[in-house]
Amino acid sequence: SMDIQLSGIGMTSARTRDRLVQRLRDAGIQDERILDTIRNTPRHLFIEEALAHQAYDDTALPIGHGQTISQPWVVARMTELLMAGDRRRKILEIGTGCGYQTAVLAPYCDELYSVERIRPLQDQARKRLLRLGLAKVQLKHADGGFGWKSEAPFDGILAACARADIPRELLDQLADGGRLVMPVGDDRKQILTVVDRDGDEFHRQSLDAVRFVPFQRGVMR
Ligand code: SAH
Repeated sequence: SMDIQLSGIGMTSARTRDRLVQRLRDAGIQDERILDTIRNTPRHLFIEEALAHQAYDDTALPIGHGQTISQPWVVARMTELLMAGDRRRKILEIGTGCGYQTAVLAPYCDELYSVERIRPLQDQARKRLLRLGLAKVQLKHADGGFGWKSEAPFDGILAACARADIPRELLDQLADGGRLVMPVGDDRKQILTVVDRDGDEFHRQSLDAVRFVPFQRGVMR
């Protein structure tokens, strides 16, 4: 039944999920609410059935079109960084992919906007998010390098793809007091970067070494 699929059995069971949560806690994730969200989000439903037995391993996995579902630690870390401090009401995500990070972010904001450049990935993500009751998420097929101007400003912006430079448009679309979290670097070496906006000033912190797929230009049908 639907319930069994959502809660999982065997390799997708509560015990398997608890093991992942403990691993994330050991790896420095401190926010218990976010750990709960990770435990309760059925990651196995965001990947192909053939890979479901790896759904609660702390690794990135292929989702087709040369893209990956982010590693759970990275999803937890970026969520923790984005949500630290002030409450963030309106959030923009760049790189919906399979929709897993989107589902983890959803409980922490009132409005969630997510942009993906590969159409078939977005179509699948839309179905999954609806199934999980996350109809409030607004999805757009576009190049996220331009942000989502008509909905700006955002209290938080999270990009799940890496680029050597932070797009100017994304910084412009950050609200005063807002925060951007994004991997910055080339395809070999990237650093998880946080930018806080204070009026016309942007304060930048370079944190963990990470590995993401590239932030690409244009869209794909
Ligand atoms: N958070 C996603 C990560 C997917 S990988 C998940 O958990 O599944 C990063 C995604 O960013 C890919 O789907 C890729 O197509 C997308 N992407 C890369 N460049 C982009 C751009 N310029 N605009 C929008 N999406 C982009």
